[in-house]
Amino acid sequence: MSPRRNSPRRKGDPARPTSDPDALLLRVTGGERRETGPDGEWAVRRISGAAAAKPYRCPGCHQEIPPGMPHVVAWRPFGDGDDRRHWHSSCWEKRAHRGVRPPRY
Ligand SMILES: [Zn+2]
Repeated sequence: MSPRRNSPRRKGDPARPTSDPDALLLRVTGGERRETGPDGEWAVRRISGAAAAKPYRCPGCHQEIPPGMPHVVAWRPFGDGDDRRHWHSSCWEKRAHRGVRPPRY
């Protein structure tokens, strides 16, 4: 008797052609959320350090976000994504807090 095992083949999803880098980014970062700032509504996504492969210029402080640093990307939810911006996490939060209620000196 030969112990021949019929290993059940798992039916995985058929490989979907996801060549879109944005789709890949969405899966890596696990989704987005909406934030309403002083200048309107934004879609915000947190980028992990592993997913940050390129340096970006932060519009909040005009410093460079080095590759490998977790940060935030924000864009207009109703646009075509061309206005996508990469922010330091702290700069993004400072921006939101500052604009809603400006402090008086
Ligand atoms: Zn910054």
